[in-house]
Amino acid sequence: PHPIDPSSITFKELQEILLATPKEEKAQEWSKYYTSGPHLAGKNLSQAVWTQERWEEFGIKADIVAYDTYINYPHDHRLALCKKEKSKGMEVWDVKFEASLEEDVLEEDSTTGLSSRIPTFHGYSASGNVTASYVYVNYGTYQDYEDLIKANVSLAGKIAVARYGEIFRGLKIKRAEDLGMIGTVLFTDPGDDGPASEENGVRLYPNGPARNPSSVQRGSAQFLSVAPGDPTTPGYPSKPGVPREPTKGKIPSIPSLPISYVDALPILTALNGIGPSAKDFGKHWDTNLGLKYKGVNYNIGPSPDDLVLNLVNEQDYVTTPLWDVIGIINGTLLDEVVIVGNHRDAWIAGGAGDPNSGSAALNEVVRSFGVALAKGWKPLRTIVFASWDGEEYGLIGSTEWVEEFLPWITHASVAYVNIDVATTGPVLGASASPLLNKLIYEVTSMVPSPNQTVIGQTIGDVWDKEISTMGSGSDFTAFQDFAGVPSLDFGFHGDPNQAGGPEVYHYHSNYDSFHWMNTYGDPGFHYHIAAARLLALFTAKLSESPVVPLNATDYALAIEGYISTVETKLETSIAGTESGEELAEARSRPTPSAPKGDVDALKMSFKGLHQASAKLLKASQAHDAFAAKLSEEVGQEIPWWKWLSKLKLYIHIRGVNTKYKLLERQFLHQKGLDGRPWFKHVIFAPGLWTGYAGAVFPGLQEAIDDKDYGNAYRWAGIIEELIWKAAASLR
Ligand code: GLU
Ligand code: CA
Ligand code: ZN
Ligand code: ZN
Repeated sequence: PHPIDPSSITFKELQEILLATPKEEKAQEWSKYYTSGPHLAGKNLSQAVWTQERWEEFGIKADIVAYDTYINYPHDHRLALCKKEKSKGMEVWDVKFEASLEEDVLEEDSTTGLSSRIPTFHGYSASGNVTASYVYVNYGTYQDYEDLIKANVSLAGKIAVARYGEIFRGLKIKRAEDLGMIGTVLFTDPGDDGPASEENGVRLYPNGPARNPSSVQRGSAQFLSVAPGDPTTPGYPSKPGVPREPTKGKIPSIPSLPISYVDALPILTALNGIGPSAKDFGKHWDTNLGLKYKGVNYNIGPSPDDLVLNLVNEQDYVTTPLWDVIGIINGTLLDEVVIVGNHRDAWIAGGAGDPNSGSAALNEVVRSFGVALAKGWKPLRTIVFASWDGEEYGLIGSTEWVEEFLPWITHASVAYVNIDVATTGPVLGASASPLLNKLIYEVTSMVPSPNQTVIGQTIGDVWDKEISTMGSGSDFTAFQDFAGVPSLDFGFHGDPNQAGGPEVYHYHSNYDSFHWMNTYGDPGFHYHIAAARLLALFTAKLSESPVVPLNATDYALAIEGYISTVETKLETSIAGTESGEELAEARSRPTPSAPKGDVDALKMSFKGLHQASAKLLKASQAHDAFAAKLSEEVGQEIPWWKWLSKLKLYIHIRGVNTKYKLLERQFLHQKGLDGRPWFKHVIFAPGLWTGYAGAVFPGLQEAIDDKDYGNAYRWAGIIEELIWKAAASLR
């Protein structure tokens, strides 16, 4: 190492540039561009090219990487409620109600009226034309269906009508399909919107913050907890000409449609008085029933044979290119890489929140780094910026890219930073690998809060400081769970404590538009800028700190905590004394069968887990202490070439950094989780029956949930070995 071409600016100067450059007007301009036309996956080449051109203009080299992926586009649909009537002694089917399946065009909100607007549909839904009686299945969680089975409600051959919420939508459809149901209708219940509702007299969007009754949540129906990415190429990139696998078990084979509450009303009302009612099934069924005031009794059905739904869903399946835009700033160290990404595709013309608040923020970040480069900054590590395509269908652009560049990502990546929805309100939420916790606390305390009750308050000051574990539902999944790259994801959302509740966010609807964002979500675009500053500083800290800013001790402590949690869980599982919270959680997973395997051996194996984790803690503390000492020696503020030229210090720092870089990778189990081999991380995975929410020690927990103690014992062994390996890797 030697100081060729030294960086002419210090970290402090870089930090100032990154805080000062992002501008509200600019974010607004990017938002306006992205939200002004359809940008469905595979249909957004112009936006990919535009993004590439902007980044190049900002001074960052950018390329487009294409994948040939299997996806669907809507062709036709119908949902009708039909009743058999007697007319002149003959039986005829009478159409009682024809669902509009459309969102209203609003004069105030120009993109809702585009002639090119995208119909309401589900990604990866099956084509079909089915007619059958129907059953209201609450949220359609695993346990909701179990409740119906217990109550002898007949499900096979019927159509499920479920409300959105609680779990990932594709899993509601999966369970319906598993139970022999032949179609699924998903509706948005305004009862799940909180206080800002029509029922409470709040004015409806566009005249107020309550949900527009015609709004529909589109979204993917794939079974994301099985594997994300192109379902025809699990584990390898969708390059032209590669072999394709069948999609069975990864996407639904029964048709589904998303509908608004206006369209749901007649369908639910027609069930009044038929079959059991929601309140017979307890609290989980009997809360947030937002259509009672419209006369819905929330009866379960099934509807009698002479009252049926006709559900038609016609999808065109194609194999078509998707486009990731990849920008690179080459650092001095080529084998330490920081990756920052956001998806660009949306279900709709708008997408001002999802994802383009993130896209606007990312553009401001890229622009800010361009300004720093122009002032002579030379990055220490390599920085990769990604604008992913196809996230909405199933995290496709990011997953295929990780699958393609896996050897390099495994070798070189230090961390992945994700931003999806940057803002729909003022409250920060974050999830991350515990390795990144300290960095999140540090960076949130460096960025001013747009809303200050006390002058000088930072984002960190007004944040609850909760960092959740990583589940799924956005582009960090392939990095964290498949490649073992420590990842973080953050964004601002609505404040539930706001008087009258937050503005209702019209997720995956035409009303997630520029007009909504500008009026309700983030007027003034201040939170776009707060998000951009956070994103820029996460990136800068990760790329410029001489010692990689990861913290192993936090990981070891977290692991010890997860072990204790699972151990308590095992005890209550054996005793059958699950707490209210555990029972609530149990609602989204299968009811266990009879216990199998040696429970005493399993209990003993926790001893081994604790021992391994104690060892990891010790190794982590020693490693972090040595890293802190080096950090102090080198000083945070000096330009990299000063320490890069001190050979002994350089060798030590590089050694420490390599261990940090590879630590998360130690927790990958190449065979993957039971029944879902794509998921390789033994500590984090999306919950099998939740999708969005994360599970810790998924292999072990799922085996305990199944009361398969033999398999749980096997998983405890696998995990213990990897924890020992992680501890050894730090030595
Ligand atoms: N953000 C997308 C959604 O929640 C992710 C889709 C997926 O993971 O399949 O619909
Ligand atoms: Ca693939
Ligand atoms: Zn998104
Ligand atoms: Zn989305």
